[in-house]
Amino acid sequence: MITVALAGNPNCGKTTLFNALTGATAHVGNWPGVTVDKREGVCKKGDRPVTVVDLPGIYSLSPYTPEEVIARNFILDNRPDCVIDIVDSTNLERNLYLTTQFMEMDVPVVVALNMTDELDRRGDRIDAKLLEERLGLPVVRISATTGYGVKDLINRTIAAAKKPRKGISLLAGTSVSDIIAQVADRMNDETASPVFHAIKLLEGDSVERSVHKKSAAFADKLTDGFEDATFGKDIEALVANARYDYITKNFSPALSKKTESARISRSEKIDRVLTNKWAGIPIFAAILFVIFHLTFAEDFLFLGAMGVLGRNWGAEWVNFEGNEFFEGLFGSSDGINSPGVILANLLNGCTAAIQGGITGGMEAAGAAEWASGLVGDGILGGLFAVLSFLPQILLLFLFFSLLEDSGYMARVAFILDRIFRRLGLSGRAFMPMIMGFGCSIPAMVNTRTLADERERTATVRVIPFFSCGAKLPILTAMAGAMVAYFPGMPDAGVITFLMYVAGMLTAFVAVITMRSTTMRGELTPFIMELPDYRAPGFRSTMLHLWDKCKHFIKKAFTIILASTIIIWFLSHFAWNWTYMPDEEMGSSILASIGMLIQPVFTPLGFGSQIGAAGWVFAVAAITGLIAKENVIATFGTLASAVVSGFVADEALEGVDAVEALIGATGISGSACIAFILFNMLTIPCFAAVATAKAELPKGKMKWTLLFWIVVSYLVAAMVYTVGEFVWPVAIWVVVAAAAAAVIIFVNKKRGGKSIGLKAA
Ligand code: GDP
Ligand code: MG
Repeated sequence: MITVALAGNPNCGKTTLFNALTGATAHVGNWPGVTVDKREGVCKKGDRPVTVVDLPGIYSLSPYTPEEVIARNFILDNRPDCVIDIVDSTNLERNLYLTTQFMEMDVPVVVALNMTDELDRRGDRIDAKLLEERLGLPVVRISATTGYGVKDLINRTIAAAKKPRKGISLLAGTSVSDIIAQVADRMNDETASPVFHAIKLLEGDSVERSVHKKSAAFADKLTDGFEDATFGKDIEALVANARYDYITKNFSPALSKKTESARISRSEKIDRVLTNKWAGIPIFAAILFVIFHLTFAEDFLFLGAMGVLGRNWGAEWVNFEGNEFFEGLFGSSDGINSPGVILANLLNGCTAAIQGGITGGMEAAGAAEWASGLVGDGILGGLFAVLSFLPQILLLFLFFSLLEDSGYMARVAFILDRIFRRLGLSGRAFMPMIMGFGCSIPAMVNTRTLADERERTATVRVIPFFSCGAKLPILTAMAGAMVAYFPGMPDAGVITFLMYVAGMLTAFVAVITMRSTTMRGELTPFIMELPDYRAPGFRSTMLHLWDKCKHFIKKAFTIILASTIIIWFLSHFAWNWTYMPDEEMGSSILASIGMLIQPVFTPLGFGSQIGAAGWVFAVAAITGLIAKENVIATFGTLASAVVSGFVADEALEGVDAVEALIGATGISGSACIAFILFNMLTIPCFAAVATAKAELPKGKMKWTLLFWIVVSYLVAAMVYTVGEFVWPVAIWVVVAAAAAAVIIFVNKKRGGKSIGLKAA
């Protein structure tokens, strides 16, 4: 089968095209650096099937970044039958720079002019015929998002793959053209793509020079005494300049832009506000806050708190009191629910009805007590406890994916680069961190874009602090329960938001500490192109969500289901393997293990002080190591038995289960927060630990595990202590802040500049 490589600049639409060709659902994002590794699939859209490989985005074929090395090695070593060079037609000249380098290789190349829909929308035009003539390569107009031209592209690629192509140089007529010809001639028998290698040798490419030692010496002899009128001995600069010259002279005529003045584009106007030095970060914080509010708040727009709602104001049209259905679903006299909560309530209503129906049916049919317990609590209780958070998880993802796809997140990386430098990180580290909000695993893999190994290690370690989707049920359930149980709590949306912020702050403090102690290292300058703002594609957004949904449900019915069944058994059998009914759960295997470890958590507020039933919290924290959803699943499985005295015979899920547990154990508010933070910051799930192990340098894993345990324990203990004993603790805060200030000051001296490139 023919193999075709997709290559091009970051953000030119490679992955979108890859998905369109192969029907895959790989992650598309409107920011550079999303595809770090290569990815393979089969395309059946053309006259015959072809293997398609999606390469990471690159600006050139020099071996300066890991992406460049991956892309270049793939083309040189694996020798695909054809390269599809994807060119963002709204950025023609800059994208063709890479094309000029592909032209030097002995491989068929087809140029795919992508984003032609956007080009048309702007009223610009590209004469594909003319470009094809000048390039000497097939040029096909496509739009990866709409699918326009994709079939034509693949068929022309199949045709091109049949004819071998010799590399040509566009540097004829420059002062080095003679030398290139001689070196290429010499390398003809030594390697494929002699022209490419010859030019790289002259550019002083370190990888090439060590591979082709003899030819390098030969080239050195030829360039000895070489002196260009403009560039002197700097051949690399000469070559780069010659490429751009050639592009402007020969290829640019194919492009006719509407009018120059109309091109101070929408993107630039928006950027003046969003990436403003002062407003940028507050705007980002505000956007995050609004997102959390829409997803978690039970007092939408704070209407209740402001007194706009409720009896005092006489606004009876939104007073649901007395109507059980609407009150539960839409809110109460305290306020209206946000869309996220309404969705969650809807699903909860369904699952509660199913659970009630099944257990009720089993009891009516005379099933044994243990059997209905196993089904009701062990299977459905745990499962539904987790599933009930799906709507909010998906909503949060919808928002994040819109931010990412629109191009906004790339701006945030740019704004944050200034601050990140103070921390000892480059702005590049921001992307994996943000990905961590989704799932730590791809985020850790994405740290491969960080050049410095120590920076990478530090980043991998703090990624779990960016609370992932699986931890979200913990936050939501605890926050919801706290609002319901403790008087005077802020809105659930506010608590959740603050927890996310606390995770990020912990990450930053940890990074500062590591980068100024064990993980010192150089900072490479951060060069990132700001992509144009785009309306997010409906299809790719839905694909994101569907992927997330599938993953979540699959996990619920495998790992989580298995865990809850095991938990149910361990909590309903004693060491002598006799069945323990709910009332005697305290003497079960699980309870005795839980009680054994419970004292460990006393400094965190959910240990010995919360009494006999408090072992549930200890057990939940441990089961969370398998999958974080297990924390809430464990509550769902155990709550109705543990708290039977507190709420009689009710199916307890999600928020209700936690609320009942709080009531039964008497755990304090600050201990609840400590519990959330401990679970959020401690060792992540199995899968993430395995990924970290694979991504970290050898020997770092045991330190990393220790790091997670220590940080989570310290932070949770601190928060609990602060909550319980405010004053003595205030002194410690001042001391810590002073220490942090000193470290930041020291770090400041180690500078490095951040460079942001605007799309031309
Ligand atoms: P990659 O970095 O090269 O893999 O680029 P992606 O496939 O992740 O796409 C980058 C951005 O460009 C995403 O926001 C896509 O939705 C968008 N995009 C890709 N192809 C097209 C296209 O043909 N037209 C338009 N308007 N947008 C596109
Ligand atoms: Mg990509």
